Amino acid sequence: MSFFGKSKRGDNFKTIALCHQEFSDELKNHYLNTIFRLILFLKKFALDIREIESDRFKSELDEIKNIYLATNSYKQLSKFLNRHTPRVECYIKRQQSYLNDREKELRDIIDLLSKAMTGLNTDNKRFYQRLYDHSEKLEKITLLDDIKKIKNSLETEVFQIRQAVNDQKKLELKKIELLASEVHTLRNELEKTRTHLQTDTLTGVNNRKALDQYLEQLIEQSQLHKYSFSMMLLDIDDFKMINDTYGHLIGDRVLVAFAQKCRSLIRSDDFIARYGGEEFVIILPKASLRNAKKKAKQICKALAATRYTIDENGTDDSLSVTASIGVVSMSKEDGVAEIIERADKALYRAKREGKNRVFTEKDL
Ligand code: GH3
Ligand code: MG
Ligand code: MG
Repeated sequence: MSFFGKSKRGDNFKTIALCHQEFSDELKNHYLNTIFRLILFLKKFALDIREIESDRFKSELDEIKNIYLATNSYKQLSKFLNRHTPRVECYIKRQQSYLNDREKELRDIIDLLSKAMTGLNTDNKRFYQRLYDHSEKLEKITLLDDIKKIKNSLETEVFQIRQAVNDQKKLELKKIELLASEVHTLRNELEKTRTHLQTDTLTGVNNRKALDQYLEQLIEQSQLHKYSFSMMLLDIDDFKMINDTYGHLIGDRVLVAFAQKCRSLIRSDDFIARYGGEEFVIILPKASLRNAKKKAKQICKALAATRYTIDENGTDDSLSVTASIGVVSMSKEDGVAEIIERADKALYRAKREGKNRVFTEKDL
């Protein structure tokens, strides 16, 4: 008697059983054990893949196993196994197809990676060569048959590519640092040159070019923000006589000392420039004409009280100079030339009135 009955599908073990209808009990037990083991093997064969419902399949196998153990009748058992065989076959096909799909995807990914890497456009020849070598290796990986080998080789390649990219990053970072330091040096040089170009070589205060720039900006800002500023034009009195008496070199040194003295008499946000010869300009941002006049008088007084040591041939000789100052305040229509012209008029008046004094445009 067969305990498997007639199978439409005809699995190997069923066929074997059908061919041997006169089996001994020992042989029957042997077959029963084999079937039981096959059920266990099937459970192990099923991978843990959610997409193909491996869990459900495994619990079905558990169910089959339990019923198999609990059933005494061969006929019933045979019927039961026949009923479940298509489901097992179906699952095996599903799992195979799933693995084939994954393998294909893996090959596609490798293909994509290879193409992406050969398509990378980089200036660095050495780096490009390394990437190109890796992309060739990636292409070869697709020739491997074993999915495990593919995975291992892919891991190695990805690791090496990452290393190459990291090396490249470090190299580029170094280059950037080098460039940044060069930019820093160049910026400093530029700043020095700009300062140099705007500095009067004799006295060290701003030169005429810097004055023009500063005035232009200040006028623009003052018009924009509707505030005024004041300006003094200082001219050393009888400076020709200093040159004539003490010589041009002493005259130069007096100019330097005079400029330093002026700088020391104003605030750090005030502006001083050598306008030319023995003439200087002081600008007081946001100061009214009244305040500027007051300040000019203080400066005029302080300058007159200053003595400059000549210190020639071990003597303690000293000299002093006075200055006349014209003071103006910015008015609406002012440009650089206009404001200087008005300051010059006020200065001229101060000279005419006896020098060593302050005149504003309002006093004219
Ligand atoms: P005033 O009181 O009317 O201003 O008389 P002043 O002598 O100061 O004016 P003047 O314009 O007659 O002479 C200016 C002098 O300043 C003449 C020029 O040689 C001198 N000077 C101009 N620039 C320099 C310079 O860089 N160094 C020296 N040592 N002298 C200079
Ligand atoms: Mg002059
Ligand atoms: Mg003068």
